[in-house]
This record gives sequence, structure tokens and C-alpha cells, in this order.
Amino acid sequence: MENEPGDIPVPPIAVIRESGTEPDTARLVWDPLRGEYLAQAPGRMQRREGATECAFCADLTSERIPTWAQAWIRPNDFPAFRPPTGECYLLIYSRQHDRTFAELSVPEVTLVIGLWQRIYAELAPIYPCVMTWETSGAAIGQTQTHPHGQTYALSVIPDTLAREMVAIERAATNGEVCPFCVAARDEADGERRVFVGAHWVGFVPAFARYPYQVQLVARQHMSAITGFPLGGPMATELSDALLRIVRAYNVVFQAPMPYMLAIHQLADERFHLHLELLPVGRAPGKLKLAASSEMAWDFWLNDSLPEAKAAELRALI
Ligand SMILES: [Zn+2]
Ligand SMILES: [Zn+2]
Ligand SMILES: [Zn+2]
Repeated sequence: MENEPGDIPVPPIAVIRESGTEPDTARLVWDPLRGEYLAQAPGRMQRREGATECAFCADLTSERIPTWAQAWIRPNDFPAFRPPTGECYLLIYSRQHDRTFAELSVPEVTLVIGLWQRIYAELAPIYPCVMTWETSGAAIGQTQTHPHGQTYALSVIPDTLAREMVAIERAATNGEVCPFCVAARDEADGERRVFVGAHWVGFVPAFARYPYQVQLVARQHMSAITGFPLGGPMATELSDALLRIVRAYNVVFQAPMPYMLAIHQLADERFHLHLELLPVGRAPGKLKLAASSEMAWDFWLNDSLPEAKAAELRALI
């Protein structure tokens, strides 16, 4: 780490502790055919889609959030899980309702990384998996316009992370380096590169499912978002990279491109922190949505070549 913890100013982040009073109707269910868990949470049907009152602005007007706080963590009022199964939180990026992630400044995005670090530090000692993400765009299910992300802490490890862990273990068994360390090294000067920085490498994976999918990998091996200080260059570069990539998506789409942004991390030092950007735009105004082969067979079809889409993004970044 470049900075001592003492160098870091305390980020203006608040945490609301009390949670809603919804009855706990959620449950985890094992699918013996696919060999994976899913959740059933009927309470979430009552969510406030299309509500005119913003619940996050209400955190400000009700003074649940102190005036010094610029970003905050609050419980999800419609949690998919309750302890010990899991916990659900919302990460509010800004006091201002009419912003998007792409419109934030580098220091504001760094504060968002502060939210990601704070929620991970609180929940990773309790749960095996902390899923943090952002869903951006009504087309893919964003129901609240106030800029925000979400975190689920889960008592099970979702299949995607488990499979990535298997790939890491397989490499170790074969005496090879972590595959994410290899990707960060090799993709930095490859034709799929999108963003190449001192601390992060972003590229369209050779196996991209979405045309403009980007995997953003830490050059240094670390398992979670708490592996670097918020006041240091690694956080600033990540903020800059994320803004450049999402803004490039908007240029390609000629409008805000709907995307999912997910942090893949595990409290296992063999795992390698990376961010997955899954944008669903494929051309101006046109979407690539998971359809039958993807949903019914889990067999993905990408109508483009990763190296071609990487070149397009690189030209815009
Ligand atoms: Zn709002
Ligand atoms: Zn690694
Ligand atoms: Zn991943």
C-alpha cells in the first residue's frame, strides 16, 4: 500500500442501522438439478416501482442522514434475505437525486468506492459472500432513479464466484499463477485492452457474453475491495477508469446505456478482486437481452468479436 491508513481523511459516509419491519418471508432454496441455490422473497413484490416520493431523498429530509454525509448506506426496505440467511443494503452515491453514476466526478466516485469498502468490511467477517453491484437503466430493472447501488451479504457462495474459485484452484494445482494475475499482465498490451493504468487493467474478455462487456482487474493480487486505501492512487485510478468506461458506453449507445456493474470478491486470499461491467447495449438504442438460448440453456451468443468492440471502446477512452 502506498499510503499509511493515517493519511486518509475520514470519508463523509453515514450508515443507517435500523431496518424495516417487513415480515421475513424469504428463503433460500437448493436446486438439486442445477446444483445451485436461488432465493424466493415474496415480500419484494411490494416494492415501490413508480413511486413519486424518493425514499433516499426522504433520508435527507427526515434528517436520518447527517448534513456532513455525502453518501450513505441504508438497509433495503424490501430485503430478499434476513440474518442468518443474508442481509440487503442500499448504497446511496449522492445527496442529489437527479444524477447518474456517469455524471459523478472522480472524487464522488471515490466516495462510492468508500461505500463498497465500508459495506464489505462490515459484512465479510459474518457472511461467506458479499455481492455489491449497480443496476443502471429501467430496461434492466432499475426502479429508483436516485443514484445508488446495492449489496447482498449471502450465507452461500453464488455459482459464478465458485466457478472462478475453481479456476484459481486448478491453476494452483497445476503450478500456475492465478489466472486473473495472468489476465492483468497479458491483456494490458493485447488487442482486447480497453483501459490500461498503473493499478488496473480493463479489457473485453475473450469469452465476453455482451458486446461491450469489460472486466476490470486489479494488477496487484488482492481478494477484495478493501485491499487498497481510499486515499491512494489505486482508488483514484479505479474511479477514473469506471467513469471513462461508462461514459464510452453512453457514446456508443447515443444515450445512457443500461448496464450492470458487479464487484467480484471473496474473503479468501487466493481469490482475485475484479469488477465486471455488463452493459446490455449492442448498437445505438439497441439491446442485447438474454433470451432463450441464454436463459433456457445458459448458452450465450455474442453477436460481435471482443477485439472489435474493445477497439471501439479504446478509441472513446
Ligand atoms: Zn432521491
Ligand atoms: Zn491474482
Ligand atoms: Zn468475475
